[in-house]
Amino acid sequence: MLGKLIRAWNNLPLCAQKAPLKNTYNKKRAFLEIPMRSNTLLSTALAGALLSHYAHAAPLPPQPPFSFDSASGRLPKNVVPTDYTIAIVPDAAALTLRGDESVSLNFRAATDTIAFNSLNMTLDHVLFDGKPVKAVVSSDEQQLTTVTLTRKAAVGKHTLSFSYNGKIERGPQGMFAQNYARQDGGKGLLLSTKFEATDARRMFPCWDEPSFRATFKLSVTAPAAWSGIANMPVEKRVQHGALATTTFQRTPKMPTYLVEYTGGDMARIGAKVGPTDVGLWAVRGQEQDGAVALANAQQILADYNDYFGYPYPLPKLDSIAIPGGFSGAMENWGAITYNDQALLITKSSTLGDRQTAFSIQAHELAHQWNGDLVTMGWWDDLWLNESFASWRAAKEIDARNPNWDWRENQDGTREYAMAADARASSPAVQQHVSNELEARSAFDPAITYGKGQMVLTMLEAYLGDDTFRDGIRAYMKAHAYSNTSAGDLWNALSLSSGRDVGALAALWIQQPGYPLVSVNAQCDAAGQRTIALSQKRFLLQGEDAAHTHWNVPLQIRVGVDAAPHTVLLTEDGQTVAAGRCDQPLSVNATRVGFFRVAYDAATLANNTRAFAQLPRGDRIALLDDQWALSEIDPDQLPAYLALASAMGDTLNQRAWEQITDALDTIETFERNTPGHAAFAATARAVVKPIADRLGWDGKADETPGIQRLRRRVLADLGAWGDPAVIAEARRRFALFVADRNAIKADDQALVLTIVARDADAATFEQLHAIARASRNETEIRRYYAALMSVRDPQLALQARDIALSAEIPAQAAEQRRRFIFALADEHPKLSWDTYTENLELLLASSPQYRSVIIAGNTPSIYGDYVPLDELEVWLKSKVPAAMYPNVARGMESARFKQHEKALMVQAADRYVASRH
Ligand SMILES: [Zn+2]
Repeated sequence: MLGKLIRAWNNLPLCAQKAPLKNTYNKKRAFLEIPMRSNTLLSTALAGALLSHYAHAAPLPPQPPFSFDSASGRLPKNVVPTDYTIAIVPDAAALTLRGDESVSLNFRAATDTIAFNSLNMTLDHVLFDGKPVKAVVSSDEQQLTTVTLTRKAAVGKHTLSFSYNGKIERGPQGMFAQNYARQDGGKGLLLSTKFEATDARRMFPCWDEPSFRATFKLSVTAPAAWSGIANMPVEKRVQHGALATTTFQRTPKMPTYLVEYTGGDMARIGAKVGPTDVGLWAVRGQEQDGAVALANAQQILADYNDYFGYPYPLPKLDSIAIPGGFSGAMENWGAITYNDQALLITKSSTLGDRQTAFSIQAHELAHQWNGDLVTMGWWDDLWLNESFASWRAAKEIDARNPNWDWRENQDGTREYAMAADARASSPAVQQHVSNELEARSAFDPAITYGKGQMVLTMLEAYLGDDTFRDGIRAYMKAHAYSNTSAGDLWNALSLSSGRDVGALAALWIQQPGYPLVSVNAQCDAAGQRTIALSQKRFLLQGEDAAHTHWNVPLQIRVGVDAAPHTVLLTEDGQTVAAGRCDQPLSVNATRVGFFRVAYDAATLANNTRAFAQLPRGDRIALLDDQWALSEIDPDQLPAYLALASAMGDTLNQRAWEQITDALDTIETFERNTPGHAAFAATARAVVKPIADRLGWDGKADETPGIQRLRRRVLADLGAWGDPAVIAEARRRFALFVADRNAIKADDQALVLTIVARDADAATFEQLHAIARASRNETEIRRYYAALMSVRDPQLALQARDIALSAEIPAQAAEQRRRFIFALADEHPKLSWDTYTENLELLLASSPQYRSVIIAGNTPSIYGDYVPLDELEVWLKSKVPAAMYPNVARGMESARFKQHEKALMVQAADRYVASRH
């Protein structure tokens, strides 16, 4: 689905992407909190004899297993570090650090040259086996230090030691200093680290590539009043005056990017899971807000110990709530860092906040195995790290919180990935990364993470849950404390299943795109149906010159309550018997496949007649596919709107979310056209029955999904100008002004956003005063975000000034960019001018993602406003040439949207006219 302007704001690569897959993000509904991911299961019935047909698939070269010697990377493999002893003395105020380091080395060949990574560092007192060296050259451009020895050193064990001066960063890369506003109003300062992918070298010189695993013994000298947290427990602590030196136990063998240190005025709460000390750290005074997260971590750790068949191997597992830093979280082994907003739960938190915390924790804890215990050999397979963690998290969330409908809602993630993968310029999930400095930019988050996760989901369903788990267990056992390629995982799954998993996976991972499966029904004289199936790549525009082919696991359901059966589509023209001609039919039952389906007119008519009775996944699949078909051919729009109208007041949250996303897209296209008012009325009419059924106030026994659905439809009616909804929101806001408890946390953003949209100066100032007075960061973000939806141009100027002002606390700096993006909905010129004039300020909190945000998010937000050729020139002037493919993808989406817009408006107007 391409319609949404903002869908991808939050999508950032690497591990900080958890919160980011906030696929329902929408300018009007910035508050509809949760980053839902769905993950419906194919029934295990799917484990049929599908692989016998593989010979028909275009063969792709199998991915080889990991080998250290052939792993990509810039560093020579002849000198390998085995242990680091690192002692650092950071000066947080001066933003400098001093370090002493000793590295045990294994020379695999005789050499007189040692090369490793460093950045912004000066080395001194460099000794090799205790003796001076010939030369030391550090290049920040290359991010390398080369030490030349006085003569060749023999194969075997050696030691390199040195001291160095380095920098503490202001943004979250390397070791960084974080300012924050304490809850008592005072100023706080702490130190933390963020190394993935290539920033350990900013804190200590090292072999900063993931296949160079080693042990680490870290000690840090910091203010004595501080607590210090690292990957391993404290071994000893020695105070000397105002400072104290904390030495941590030696880690197991691990990659550099997972090393962690946080120091500050922090406090801990803890619990035990078997032998593991589970801790939760927050700035002092907020640690009790981590109680929910601590309980989550205990549950998840126990479940994963069982699932992976390999007990969590470190003595402790800490979750550390950092005020600010970066969004999302980072899976440092034994010391996971989180933006505190993703972890701490206060009285102001919503159900969505709780879901976000659990889902991010489930993702990060999965990395403790896939990522930390077993690490991808090179950044090409980062997709596997991330897709795996999200896939495993979805299972865990569903198991522990079944009434969240998590897997069903992951349909949003799947649609986000499918929209991105429908572009001709889409990359394959797996792409070669030759240089680690490109690792952070070479990924398209929608593809790398979203599609990868959905392909794993499809594979698990195909192989069966238990078979898949057995393969994962064997994989963990075989590769613990080591590195792998995706080929190693496919091999483990092939062994557990007896099937050639690599051959199937390759078609989906190594090729871009996905198929559109066409279904054409024939009826015989007795009314029995046979369907003929064919496939071609689904593209927004143009034809697939490469004639890409997939083996597609179909799940075919006839009627509304029969179990689906599986068919592997391998050849065009393949036929399957499919019940009676008057029955509804799905070939992507439960919506687990990563493909689209186009039904012939008669079958689609059957499905529309039975729409409200269809199983939820089948219904969602129809909506998704019919909308996507309408986007590439607006003549299909009436068929989509007929499905939407057939919903009536059916309680199906994800289906409604799909519908309101689509209606919202058209409503946005219709703005400033003569048909806008009539279309908005039509959209309101579609949603009205379900809104009337749900009302404003929840019932005690409602599931979280129904609560979300209520807020969703009320928000839409408010955005589409429903007078009754707007009046009720104003009534509730008046109560809220007098009593901050008058609206429960979950409903506040809904009410405040509706009220702020049409606010006059007095109302705007009331809301602003409420925001200014709050000390709770969850509330602060919510209240300021609401201000950004204001329509009045003068008040929008005020909103812009507020977003850039010191009112936004230091730890919420990243929100500034989101606020300015939010203004674009009603005030694109103001937003664009502010964005371009303050680019450095707005991107400062996300240094690693600068290029990804510019190339990916900018065209989706401003493509409607800035002439596209001009926009492309601007984008290319702001990113390195390595990012031009990402710019091309962003521009392809923006150009398609412009093409789509005019046709969609005409089609929608025709539909509205035909209804009167
Ligand atoms: Zn991750």
